[in-house]
Amino acid sequence: MSFTATLARDFPSAIPANQFVHSTQDSLQPHGVHRGSALALIATCRDELAFGLTAELQRAWGPAFDMAGLAGLLTLGRTGIAAARGHAPLVNGRRTFVLFGLTHVGVDDAGTIGNCERPGVPGVSRTCGALMALHDELTGDDTHTSDYPYLDKYDPEQSRLRERITPRISGRPDLLTITRITRDLIDLDTDAVIKVLRDDEVPADVAVFTGIHIHGPRGADYVDLGRCFFDRDGEIARLSLQGAL
Ligand SMILES: [Zn+2]
Repeated sequence: MSFTATLARDFPSAIPANQFVHSTQDSLQPHGVHRGSALALIATCRDELAFGLTAELQRAWGPAFDMAGLAGLLTLGRTGIAAARGHAPLVNGRRTFVLFGLTHVGVDDAGTIGNCERPGVPGVSRTCGALMALHDELTGDDTHTSDYPYLDKYDPEQSRLRERITPRISGRPDLLTITRITRDLIDLDTDAVIKVLRDDEVPADVAVFTGIHIHGPRGADYVDLGRCFFDRDGEIARLSLQGAL
């Protein structure tokens, strides 16, 4: 296998990360959404590998409200989301948000899922570490996931990942399966975010972009697209990012 073969087989909706960033702008421009008229909300993993894309998104959309959590799962809760609500510019009595929810994974030159390169770190590195840890737990010989507390107050984000992902798994999962489940959970959570943003007197319009951020060899970053839409007052406009190819 090779990086490109894995990308084509397992991430069929992947586009280069810089194209992802530009396409979010291009696809929203016809809807009157642009830098300065909207607040970006960005949920990625805490891994520094995720921040190159976050930086590009902030270059495109301006300083963003940080919703990062392990593996990109939203763990800031209702109060955190409500805090962002009042930060978006008020334009004609409405607020607009551009919400990004991205989990992530490495793929190396040989096409191995989970492997990545880190500058200055010798040998093979791995990512996403949080999902790897969960994978190792779920595929270990002495798995007793029912013993885990619902919320470990000394490990809140990882226990939340475990609590939400484990019921969706049957058999011995591979890392790709766990990564896709995380993407699906983030997709679900974006609906909850929209609800909280709308729980206010000021109407809120929300663009949503989700997917899997892929760290390829030598800094080649891609995004396997998930949900891409603009919800204006409950009216959903699908956004095509691949059309920009
Ligand atoms: Zn991670």
